[in-house]
Amino acid sequence: MPMPVVSLPVVQRWDCHNCGECCRSYAVRVTPVEKARIEAQGWEARPDFDGLPGVVPDDGPDRFRLNQRPDGSCVFLGADDRCRIHAEFGAAAKPMSCRLYPFVLVPAGDHWRVSLRLACPSAVRNAGRPVADHAADLREYAGLLEASTGVTLTAGAQAVPPPPLQPAHAVPWADLIRFAQSLGSQVADAAVPLDYRLRQVLAVSELCQKSRFESISGARLSEFLAVVTAAVAEDVPRHAGDVPRPSWLGRTVFRQMAAVYARKDSGTHAGIAARGRGTRTGIAWRFAVGRGAVPRLHGLVPAAATFEAAETPQHLSAEGDALLTRFYRLKLESLQFCGPTNFGRPFWAGLDALLLTYPVTRWLGRVFAAGGTRTPDDALRLAVQAVDDGFGFNVLLGSRRQAWGIRTLAERGELAKLIAWYGR
Ligand code: SF4
Repeated sequence: MPMPVVSLPVVQRWDCHNCGECCRSYAVRVTPVEKARIEAQGWEARPDFDGLPGVVPDDGPDRFRLNQRPDGSCVFLGADDRCRIHAEFGAAAKPMSCRLYPFVLVPAGDHWRVSLRLACPSAVRNAGRPVADHAADLREYAGLLEASTGVTLTAGAQAVPPPPLQPAHAVPWADLIRFAQSLGSQVADAAVPLDYRLRQVLAVSELCQKSRFESISGARLSEFLAVVTAAVAEDVPRHAGDVPRPSWLGRTVFRQMAAVYARKDSGTHAGIAARGRGTRTGIAWRFAVGRGAVPRLHGLVPAAATFEAAETPQHLSAEGDALLTRFYRLKLESLQFCGPTNFGRPFWAGLDALLLTYPVTRWLGRVFAAGGTRTPDDALRLAVQAVDDGFGFNVLLGSRRQAWGIRTLAERGELAKLIAWYGR
């Protein structure tokens, strides 16, 4: 019997609309069992496969992935943008990764919490049935995940230990969820500007990182968080214009971090290939200097995009506010921002990584809208898709270099300034 799957209070809808974008964007890893199953389906013998294997070796022993065509699309993507394995053999015949996408199941002690990757066009548009209506499928996926990963609830014990709040300081799952729910509620308060809400969340995090929670637990922790939340609302400047501009160092480190999100190497919106040491160094230099044209690492970056234009204030519409509020509530309340679904980051470090996505998304939204190529709302939606394509998944975002950058920005007070600067 799999652990229960808990849907979150945030209103998130989804249904697959068969756009085929995921099938054109990702190299899908398969297990040896899935490889054997797909090979037994006899695709290689079909005339249109012309001997092309459906599954090929990936990096490392016993690692495999679905084969791709020269344009990067999955070999099983049909002309009608539907999966041919699904069409012929049913959903259960597909690899687990394909079935689960865009859902992310986050282990949380005695249950799974549900998140979604807003990289999927249907998920970012909130198009389809409420997530709760997918409960039967999600329960099945949870069972399959438990069988394949060994994450399971045994005799009432917790399946995996909770991510620590910070190194060498862990609290029980129930308290970790109290923290996440409190932060999620802070973000949900749409009566005040979003950048103010996120700076409040950051301020709560900074205060909590100075405390130990061995003796503050359960209802006392909830009371503590309510008091701290009320206190920071008074202390944090409400208007972005009242927050000092990020320093030269803050902006330079920020652009290096943003460059990782702004890079797309394959799929529909692949940008220029950043291969070769010389090319990579040149691009890194341009992001460090931050002047002139933005390198087109992502196919959606228009030719008109400049670093200077990306610093121009851009009003966040009600639609954009609702989208970003949904994004942050989803990531916070599901706990997708820390632990196994974000490169094993402790709770507060994962929160910093999540908060950094706000200035990155607003910066990228300005870049995608450069030269009037798109409306600001369309550009922001594409920026959310690009950012959530990588968040928790792009191995470069899990690197020590990225962790150093986030820590540097947080410890020097630059993260709050960046949230305010790009919140204008
Ligand atoms: S990107 Fe989303 S909507 Fe499009 S095919 Fe994949 S799951 Fe379906």
